Amino acid sequence: MIDHLTVKAVRAGLQKKQFSALELTHAYLKRIHEHNPRLNAYISVNDEEALQQAQAADERIAKGDDTPVLGLPMAIKDVLSTKGLRTTAGSRMLENYVPTWDATCVANLRSAGAIFLGKTNTDEFAMGSSTENSAYGVTHNPHDESRVPGGSSGGSAVAVAANLCVVALGTDTGGSVRQPAAYCGITGLKNTYGRVSRYGLIAYGSSLDSVGVLAKNAEDAAIINSVIAGHDPKDSTSIHSPVPNYVDEINSLKSKIQNLRIGVPKEYFIGGLQPDVENAVREGVRAFERMGAVVKEISLPTTHLGLPVYYLIATAEASSNLSRFDGVKYGLRVNGDDLIDMYGKTRQAGFGDEVKRRIMLGTYALSAGYYDAYYIRAQKVRTLIKQDFERAYQEVDIIMTPVAPTTAFKIGEKVEDPLQMYLTDVFSVTLNLAGNCGISVPCGFDQQKLPIGMQLMGPALGETQLLSAAHTYQFSTFN
Ligand code: GLN
Repeated sequence: MIDHLTVKAVRAGLQKKQFSALELTHAYLKRIHEHNPRLNAYISVNDEEALQQAQAADERIAKGDDTPVLGLPMAIKDVLSTKGLRTTAGSRMLENYVPTWDATCVANLRSAGAIFLGKTNTDEFAMGSSTENSAYGVTHNPHDESRVPGGSSGGSAVAVAANLCVVALGTDTGGSVRQPAAYCGITGLKNTYGRVSRYGLIAYGSSLDSVGVLAKNAEDAAIINSVIAGHDPKDSTSIHSPVPNYVDEINSLKSKIQNLRIGVPKEYFIGGLQPDVENAVREGVRAFERMGAVVKEISLPTTHLGLPVYYLIATAEASSNLSRFDGVKYGLRVNGDDLIDMYGKTRQAGFGDEVKRRIMLGTYALSAGYYDAYYIRAQKVRTLIKQDFERAYQEVDIIMTPVAPTTAFKIGEKVEDPLQMYLTDVFSVTLNLAGNCGISVPCGFDQQKLPIGMQLMGPALGETQLLSAAHTYQFSTFN
């Protein structure tokens, strides 16, 4: 029953009484218990509460209530706080942490009647590109279980790709929604910075973090986005701009591919790019051209500075954000001889290697004497990167690139070499530095039958246009 169900199909099926929310939830939970021991997409499965939520949704439906997500079985990345449901951030530090409130995006979905099947696996504190940095074991890519699903929202991507939920929330600080979506052959929307409230998101890099959607297609992402986007007084960085009705807009904008100006930046087609990836993305661009888009080569000359700048700023912010895990306020505490000893022992036991590496890098970049040389300079280059995009968007409406240089790599292949791991983010971090939006759309397979993703990038608040372009592409390719 549940193979390939979309958000839209669930709503239609519930309305036509083809199934009840309870039946649907039972079916998903059964499938999760069958496949999760192998795939490890979920850290926590929310059996009992999900069934209660399903029952409540059925009662609301019986009374004639209707929302886009009423009775929808979905998954939430385990860095988003869920009231009464353990939220680990993929870390031992928060192994037993049960939030007393919902993140705003979660609260919006809850009040609209969505059903939370569980919390999905993530690199610890969302730091990683493969979900191998989780304290709860690696997640396996359903297309080839010896490979990573990407990260850090790898659990959410696998849950969607393997039909262990209909749709899932993820977060994207430097590519963590788009890259796992690409590796798992699904659609991943990264919102403009501030479009979705970050309240209740366990912070990694506060000036970069954004909430996004992992979905079967762009239309599903649009539906979820219309529920989670919007201003939130609890997040001072959230944007005061009305939320479009993404679903109506993407359907009515469809014809606008005609004359859509697409920029293809030459700096994103460089050495190290897997030939199959390049060919599939270029073919995707040609598909847009056939639909009437106008394609031109552009230049984003600061692209090569994205990675070093990102890894300076992200680690600096992470080192500051993670100082709150001190054995007093949340989670783990390991007793020591005195306060300092307790801090040390708690953080030694609670954090994994990658998180420690980043705290050290970030602390160094922020320390007196190096602050100007590293952090301030990185912020200046960040402005240049942002200006590159601003210039480009005077000439084109959207930009198309690969999401990542290669398809999914083998589990264990890059863990010993952090620089190789960081390089997988080369095409995704620039967008976060600029604060813009992007979407990862499947555009084919490589010779090993692994999915390839292309990235559509847009200016701040360009979600409607991106979703519409992606939807038109998917509609014309798959119908
Ligand atoms: N892979 C990047 C990192 O490790 C991005 C992670 C993310 O977007 N959360 O920082």
